[in-house]
Amino acid sequence: PLTGKSPFRRAPPVPTVAGVTALDPRDLHGQTAVVTGAASGIGAAVARRAAALGMRVVLADRDESALQRTAEELRDTGATVLPVVCDVRDADAVERLAVTAVDEFGPVRLLVGNAGIESTGRLWEIAPDRFERVFGVNVAGVFHGIGAFVPHMLDTAVPGQEAIVVTVASIGSVTTMPAQGAYVSSKHAALALTECLALELAQAQAPIRVAAFLPGPVDTGIYTSADADGVAGDALRERMRDVLADRGVTPDQAAEALFAGLAAGDFWIFTDETRAAELLRARADRLQA
Ligand code: NAD
Repeated sequence: PLTGKSPFRRAPPVPTVAGVTALDPRDLHGQTAVVTGAASGIGAAVARRAAALGMRVVLADRDESALQRTAEELRDTGATVLPVVCDVRDADAVERLAVTAVDEFGPVRLLVGNAGIESTGRLWEIAPDRFERVFGVNVAGVFHGIGAFVPHMLDTAVPGQEAIVVTVASIGSVTTMPAQGAYVSSKHAALALTECLALELAQAQAPIRVAAFLPGPVDTGIYTSADADGVAGDALRERMRDVLADRGVTPDQAAEALFAGLAAGDFWIFTDETRAAELLRARADRLQA
């Protein structure tokens, strides 16, 4: 039974390459990170933390003005950053992002596929273009990142300095809920892609580590952005206000959890493991009912 701590912690579902487990964050100093959706929220916090560890950080986002603002804020702290306008739905743009990152900052040690959008509404009421947009960002965006960066990492990563690919999925990747069917199923797909990638890289004995980050509620603009508009948008925003007040974490706390999970060698990294276990149990109960 799923009680107490998540049964998944330190129990990766997939074999990782021998010796590729924990990470000393000091090893990241002077190395290159690429973060998508880095202009705001969790992505900006992950970029800040990577920069604080001494990484050079490529910030990718489709929102140019927010991107420039975040890049300026980071530069003011002495960080070495490169903002690149990039829509992750566009495979060519993500390919160009990879080329620019390598040209400007050298081999990429850490890719964080974080760009994502919310979506609300019951499945039979969501417009097809809306559904495609959600999957375009949350699933194809992750897929394009893998296609653009992993071949490069296979060429440059070496044992002992393995490259790391992180997908920002969601606690929604391991549960199901009404009125968020498009978002939740996109996050299930993002997690599945990431697990398949881990299997493929382990099979190939590649010195690349993969992790999935599954945050619970994080207080960001995602619930209020125009992208979150949907049939049940207002209802979701109302519900999220309570949920965030009750157990939300800040973007910086989420970024801290991510790097702690990487340091510990986790595959599934949660911000709230107890909640993850609860949700899995509730999901099993619902499916049995
Ligand atoms: P956010 O809205 O603050 O940030 C998302 C960023 O992604 C924005 O800067 C936005 O411009 C960018 N973006 C959106 N579409 C893009 C595209 N097509 N190409 C490039 N950039 C794009 O949201 P956030 O809460 O920081 O979300 C970051 C990730 O965390 C998302 O994948 C989200 O699903 C996930 N997540 C968030 C929460 C939460 O409660 N906030 C919980 C679980 C998972």
